[in-house]
Formats: sequence, C-alpha cells, structure tokens
Amino acid sequence: MGAHPLMRAVVIGGGVAGLVAARRLALAGASVVLLEASDRLGGRVASTEIGGVPVDSGAESFAVRGGVVRALVEQLGLGGDVRDPAGSAWVALADRTVPLPAGGLLGIPSSPLATDVRRVIDTAGSVRAYRDRVLPVLKVGRYERLGPLVRSRMGELVLERLVAPVVQNVYGVDPDDVPIDAIAPGLNAEITRTGSLSGAVLRLRTAAPPGAAAQGLVGGVHRLVAALTDAVRGLGVDVRTGTEALGIHPAPFGGGITVTTAREDLAADRVVLAVDGAAALGLLADAAPDLATMPRPAVADSRAVLLRIDDRRLDPAPRGTGVLRAAGRAGVQASALTHLTAKWPWLGERAGSGHHLVRVAYRGAAPVSDAVVLADASALLGLEGLKPADRADALWSDTAPALAPETLAIRAALAGAELPQGLVVAGSWVAGTGLASVVASAERAATHGGS
Ligand SMILES: Cc1cc2nc3c(=O)[nH]c(=O)nc-3n(C[C@H](O)[C@H](O)[C@H](O)COP(=O)(O)OP(=O)(O)OC[C@H]3O[C@@H](n4cnc5c(N)ncnc54)[C@H](O)[C@@H]3O)c2cc1C
Repeated sequence: MGAHPLMRAVVIGGGVAGLVAARRLALAGASVVLLEASDRLGGRVASTEIGGVPVDSGAESFAVRGGVVRALVEQLGLGGDVRDPAGSAWVALADRTVPLPAGGLLGIPSSPLATDVRRVIDTAGSVRAYRDRVLPVLKVGRYERLGPLVRSRMGELVLERLVAPVVQNVYGVDPDDVPIDAIAPGLNAEITRTGSLSGAVLRLRTAAPPGAAAQGLVGGVHRLVAALTDAVRGLGVDVRTGTEALGIHPAPFGGGITVTTAREDLAADRVVLAVDGAAALGLLADAAPDLATMPRPAVADSRAVLLRIDDRRLDPAPRGTGVLRAAGRAGVQASALTHLTAKWPWLGERAGSGHHLVRVAYRGAAPVSDAVVLADASALLGLEGLKPADRADALWSDTAPALAPETLAIRAALAGAELPQGLVVAGSWVAGTGLASVVASAERAATHGGS
C-alpha cells in the first residue's frame, strides 16, 4: 500500500468494485473522488421492496472462496450477520424435478454412482459417467473447453442435466463455449494429478473449506453497499452520484491523467476504472485504442421477477432453495426460481408466517406477463393454483459477460497492454462475475495498481 498522502485518485464507477477501491485508496491516505453515473451507488447490488420487505434484486450471496468478501464484511462491522443458505437447489428436467446432487463442482459430480446423481441422470447415465474413472489418463490441454471435456469423460447426460443448468444460470454461458481455465481455475491441474475428472472434482471439493460455498447477510447483501458508502464517506471520499465520466486522457508528457465530466476536468495521479465492460471500453478509447476497437460480446440482459406468494404449501420448502431449469424442460420460460424465504431463514422470519418470497429469473429484457410468471412459478415449484400477492421486477444488463469469448479476448489483450501509468481497471468484466472476484480485483487495483 503506502499511497503518497497527496495522491489524487479518481475512481470511476460506484458499484462494489468502485466502492471497495475508493475505500482502500482513502485508507492509504489518498484524496479520492468517486464518480457514479447513475443516482444510486451499488451497481448490480441493489434492493427492491416486495411485500413490505427490502429484498436483494441483484446479487444475494457471495462466494466464500478466498475469504475476501468475508474479510471486507468483518472490517465493515457486519461479520455477525453472515449466514449460510438453508438447503440446496433442485433441477427441473424434461419429466421430473429432482434435487441437485451434493458435492459437485459446476454440476460435475465427484461420485458418479451416488444415489443423488442417479436420481438425475438415471443408472445408465451414472454408469456412463463412471467410465471417467477407467478411461485412459487425461492429458492437460486435450480439452480446452468445459463442454467437450465433460461430454467425453462423463457423457451427454451429465452435461445436459447437471452441468449446463448450473453454468448457464450462474454464469450465463454455454459450457461448450467456455474455457476450462476461465470457469474452473485449478481443475486442469487436478485432472493431471488424479487422472480423472471426477477425481479432480473430489480433490478440489475436499480442499475447499467446509460449509457452504456461498453465504449471505441478514437483511440482504445490499447492506454491503450501505456499509461501504458510510465507510467511504467517513474517510472523506468525495462521492459524486449523477456524474458520468466522459473520457480518460493521459497527460501527453510525464505523469498524470485527466478524467473529464460534463461539469469539470479532474486531474489525478491514479484512476481506477470500475465500470461495466462496454462503458470501460468506451472510456479506454484514448488510453488503449486497440482494445477499444476489439469485437464486443453480445449484451446479456436479464429480468428478475420478485413475487410474494401467501400459500402454506410452500412452508416445507418443496424445492429447497430453488430450481434451475434444464434445457429439456418444455413449457417453462424462466431459467431459474429461487425460494428466497426458504433459502434465507432470516428473510422468512421478516416476511412472516405463511408469506413466501420467490425470485423468478428470465434471460432477456422482454416483458413477461403475470400469467407467464405464475405458470412458470407453479411448474417449477410443482404446485397448482399459486396466487402472487405482490410483484416487483428488476432489469439487468451485463454489457461484457465475464466468460463470453469476446470478453476473454479483450481481457487477454488488456493484460498485455501498456496502460498509462496510474490507470488501472477493475470490476466483474475483467475479474470474473461475482462479488468474490470483484472485491479481490478492486483491492488489488487500489493497492498494487494491477487488475
Ligand atoms: C440478478 C443478478 C444476480 C447476481 N447474483 C449474484 C450473487 O448471488 N453473488 C455474486 O457474487 N454475484 C452476483 N451477481 C454478480 C454481481 O452482482 C456483479 O458481479 C457485481 O456486482 C459487479 O460489480 P462491479 O462493481 O464490477 O460492476 P457494477 O455493479 O456493474 O458497477 C458499475 C458501476 O459503474 C457505473 N458506471 C458505468 N459507466 C459509468 C461512467 N461512465 N461514469 C461513472 N459511472 C459509471 C454504473 O452505473 C455502475 O453503478 C449477480 C448479478 C445480477 C445482475
């Protein structure tokens, strides 16, 4: 760390990445201006009120991996409010809805013959998946992408019913398109060591800390934004919402960067660019023109429909924490449903006895009628005649999905590019989707100047 006391820093973007970077720079003694284009801080961490209760409408949990988010939460005084989710998710197949097996990685089972795996892919599928253990030892590099690896080692059913629902819902990509090293760092090395895919998954799972892979906060993950906002304001950061950065211009000679806004130009020694991918590439037009003109990924829009349903048949959480839809399931437009009040018992208590909150997720930004949402919720929860008492929608746009091939190419070019001194890039599009990656990248960008 050790920023010069007079270092002038401008952080562009007031999502979690920007807030974390601003806090870290201010803690190191820099004079920090934080620019946020919209009138709200938090970016893709936000809340909506449903049934009188504020509920996360964006991120609702954080990966335990690496301990970075937990450490931040502790520093912000929220450590006592961290909770594990209660239960686990199900998967909606063409003809039935069943629990997802425990102990896998991205849906890849570590024990292909286990009863809970057989329930999803049937005995023939499990026997085929077990062949992974006896097939010749894999050589790293033979498969670059996740889909072909899973298909060849464990068969189509594992890919279609277990891996694709998880990968598509959590990361928004097709397993056939995604490089193994980008989505599962360390998997290739373990495959070489153990000689099989299931063995590698088992090793990685055993090495992970015990307990849930993701956790939440009592009151919702959006409390993290409120706590970060209080922290940066308390450290004297000049927080400017409603202020869009319009350009980043390195000084032609010597150090220094100018950030332009509609009202004024800001001179800085350090600039952390923590906006979404499309905005970042626009702002890099002057500092890294080659990058700014590279092919861009398709924007991934999504809609989260929050519902309150007052129905006692949901009390026993018939689908655990929620349901992911597999490709073969016809007649359902939603990609997933989360039973929020079952997943987070503190939320169940706040909603009150007999009241349930669910989130139904859709790909794309097209409007979804009440009738469709209701039909989807009924089908995924396996209950007829559900009557929502309240509905609230949140629309999200990911302008550079972290695992899209074009984003990966831009990230690789960025890693090799020489940015003007003092300019660093952070945020989910360069670090990977999810708060664990985002927080770690922002801490690094603010302390070491690297993304
Ligand atoms: C529905 C949904 C559910 C999710 N669930 C989870 C989950 O459960 N767990 C998890 O870990 N992750 C989850 N995520 C992902 C997680 O929310 C994101 O990875 C993370 O919040 C991204 O943070 P960020 O700061 O990089 O970007 P953002 O949150 O996108 O913030 C970027 C900010 O930059 C601002 N900006 C853009 N252009 C400019 C400009 N020119 N000048 C100034 N400001 C600008 C934007 O307004 C925005 O506020 C979810 C995301 C969504 C959409």
